[in-house]
Amino acid sequence: MSASPAVVALRPAPTNNLEAFWMPFTANRQFKQAPRLLAGARDMHYVTTDGREILDATSGLWCVNAGHCRPKIVEAIQAQAAELDFAPTFQFGHPKPFELASRLAAMAPTGLDHVFFVNSGSEAVDTALKIALAYHRARGEGQRFRFVGRERGYHGVGFGGVSVGGMVANRKTFGPGLPGVDHLRHTHDLSRNSFTRGLPEHGAELADDLERLVALHGAETIAAVIVEPVAGSTGVLPPPKGYLERLRAICDRHGLLLIFDEVITGYGRLGSAFAADRLGVTPDIMTTAKGVTNGTIPMGAVFASSDIYEAFMQGPENMIELFHGYTYSGHPIACAAALATLDVYQEEGLFERAAALETRWADAIHGLKGLPHVIDIRTIGLVAGVELEPMEGKPTARAFQSMVKAYEDGMMLRVTGDIIAMSPPLIVSEAQIDEIAERLARVLKAID
Ligand code: PMP
Repeated sequence: MSASPAVVALRPAPTNNLEAFWMPFTANRQFKQAPRLLAGARDMHYVTTDGREILDATSGLWCVNAGHCRPKIVEAIQAQAAELDFAPTFQFGHPKPFELASRLAAMAPTGLDHVFFVNSGSEAVDTALKIALAYHRARGEGQRFRFVGRERGYHGVGFGGVSVGGMVANRKTFGPGLPGVDHLRHTHDLSRNSFTRGLPEHGAELADDLERLVALHGAETIAAVIVEPVAGSTGVLPPPKGYLERLRAICDRHGLLLIFDEVITGYGRLGSAFAADRLGVTPDIMTTAKGVTNGTIPMGAVFASSDIYEAFMQGPENMIELFHGYTYSGHPIACAAALATLDVYQEEGLFERAAALETRWADAIHGLKGLPHVIDIRTIGLVAGVELEPMEGKPTARAFQSMVKAYEDGMMLRVTGDIIAMSPPLIVSEAQIDEIAERLARVLKAID
């Protein structure tokens, strides 16, 4: 029997309507005392529930690369929802994911010709790891079960991604994770590289850590190495010059797959379609999400080389080649959003625009050198990390204070530890770049 309205009315009314939502990656109790609530967005700005404009210096969570509520994307989502709301992609199909995969493969680095759809960056990473294991098995090398990640890597929150990731807080409460995972050292070293534009000079030899792990375990036990080409969530850490080339060479020498996690760097963030293009190193598998739909509908896309795909296509034709997938893989509305997003990127030349703005961006943000507490600034593409001196006994406090003050003053920042990270939509104007730098300067002068 369904509940009558009278029964429903007997349920206690919530005393605080912020209570029920258990917020992710947030100090819930602190937030709920002084919430920051966003009600609308357009282009470069959010609007808060109390009607204030907030300049978005972070593209939401690194994902709204074309700016907010772009009409072409909104219309595509609306039209798709009205035409085909859902269709399975297990054993059935619909045209959109085929069309989208072809478009994505055409814009991907050469050789990454096949695309597996997922719903998030975390799912993209776990999918990439599973593809790597299954690929080796398909070739009769099922003993390759080990993965190598990197300290200060962030690869989402699935058990696979947490295991290969190297963010301490993300790992320590969740048990041992995947067996057989090792980590390269991270490449962040302020004693050798500081206030860098683009790639830092020193540290390529840190890639040789991989040789050490190969010697320790035997290459024949290692499936893949996964790194972010530029680590984002742990503080904007571009790779030293020559580092990724060296990693690629070692992988090739020993038959290891190289996975680039391009969830942040994909779709124009560095002024090229993918970081692999700009940095001149092509992985075997590439994970993407976020910018693929301009953040509008959850979606991720995992790119795999033809070699990998073909290794799966050798068995009987009536056999499922990869026992993996999600109900919403290739969801029609996500595909429609992504196709419209790619149109906007291409029609407006936004990746080229990001490249053209890089110097202006770097000049503006590096202009903050010398302000209180600033111990390093790193820029590449339309990304910047501003590292603050830790506060005695209260690490992370200064960056957090900066985020709160910036929001009160009308700008959204992202913080990670003692680092402020910025990544504006690629439609940012030169005047807005200056505004971001000016607002941040004001904030830095105001914090303790
Ligand atoms: N990989 C990288 C490199 C990321 O930056 C992120 C998210 N910031 C993820 C994976 C996880 O993505 P999601 O939050 O969509 O699961």
